Amino acid sequence: MRTEFSAAQLAQPELAEADAIIRKCVHCGFCTATCPTYLELGNELDSPRGRIYLMKDMLENDKPANKEIALHLDRCLSCLACTTTCPSGVDYMHLIDMGRAHVERTYKRPLGDRLTRALVSAVLPHPRRFRLALGAARLGRPLAGAFDALGGPFTRLAAMLRLAPHAPLKRADTTAPELAMPRRARVAILGGCAQSVLDPGINAATRRLLARFGVEVFHAAGEGCCGALPHHMGREQEALALARNNVDVWAREIASGLDAVIITASGCGTTIKDYAHLLQRDPDYAEKAKLVSSKTLDITEYLMTLDLPQQARRGTAVAYHSACSLQHGQNVTLPPKLLLERAGFTVRDVPEGHICCGSAGTYNILQPEIAGRLKERKVRNIESIAPDIIAAGNIGCITQIASGTAIPIVHTAELLDWAYGGPVPDKLSNMDSRTADAA
Ligand code: SF4
Ligand code: SF4
Repeated sequence: MRTEFSAAQLAQPELAEADAIIRKCVHCGFCTATCPTYLELGNELDSPRGRIYLMKDMLENDKPANKEIALHLDRCLSCLACTTTCPSGVDYMHLIDMGRAHVERTYKRPLGDRLTRALVSAVLPHPRRFRLALGAARLGRPLAGAFDALGGPFTRLAAMLRLAPHAPLKRADTTAPELAMPRRARVAILGGCAQSVLDPGINAATRRLLARFGVEVFHAAGEGCCGALPHHMGREQEALALARNNVDVWAREIASGLDAVIITASGCGTTIKDYAHLLQRDPDYAEKAKLVSSKTLDITEYLMTLDLPQQARRGTAVAYHSACSLQHGQNVTLPPKLLLERAGFTVRDVPEGHICCGSAGTYNILQPEIAGRLKERKVRNIESIAPDIIAAGNIGCITQIASGTAIPIVHTAELLDWAYGGPVPDKLSNMDSRTADAA
């Protein structure tokens, strides 16, 4: 795509980067075929190519964002299906990040929108506040229908209430399990924010599984939210502050012999692997961030290095839902399926597996209507292959899909822990007894 940034603009590293990204786009439109919002809404401005045009015009002419630009950029899920599809190598992720930050700096959103965003970013990255909010949301769930009827910003409140778990929240058990064989590595696991409150069982299962194969696991003191949630809302400074904190914590641990930083929520993994890029222009952090990103692995990538033994086949069919952040954001597609097969499960691919479930960080709160349509589409596709269990590697997808189907959905690591001697995951304890017996 031809660009017309001025020499003065190109002297600014951010705009020079935007220019290089936009120039790679050859307008072919292949990306429209896999873009969930284009598929659902059919509007060119809700396609990757349309959004690239909008961002080009906004950045090139140094225009403040307006209602229309904010609408179409806000509707982007940052699912990155377009990046996987693009034959020209357009780095859409970093362009939309710049676009969102520009919108945040230059556009005054309506009051209801501002309040919702401020609330989400003040609560979700902080486990204590999030726990309190979820407790309140569970009590308020019966009001969801009434909020929907009020319309406007209240539909977001209704979406938040519907996403609250039905069962009471459990406390995270962070005790380190005994190693079952001589220590072969020492890794830090991200405790994170939302996942640690919504489902602490995921990291507990991961710790048990790793300890069984001789890997010492710990939570590094001082780590916190990876910054993905504010980052996707264009709240650049908040995201950078969270990233710097984690870089400081893990760089210290790496200096004293840490082998890897393990992530069990792929939405966080994509952001942490991108710390090197996020902090590239910060002289105090660029090198440390590069080191941390290079040591960061999704749990399934790490497990592939451990050569887990083949288990006897089970009678359990697993639909593997490939989170966008894992398949498009990190290019991790085969490891989860290979590990589940090796653990004895029968893995079934989900039709339209490249299409987002609508979770996308805070998207299902901020864009409940489109997120709801994508959830229905995803659940239809999953149910069409009649699995006993659904597995996924991201808490956002797990929460979103669980709110639309009765088929139990668990994290891939929970199934692997179970297959290698751990307890039955809580969510499977009520499964049909024949399926449980077969397993
Ligand atoms: S597929 Fe790539 S090159 Fe083609 S229009 Fe989309 S972003 Fe541009
Ligand atoms: S990130 Fe996803 S929603 Fe956004 S333009 Fe790309 S494919 Fe479409």
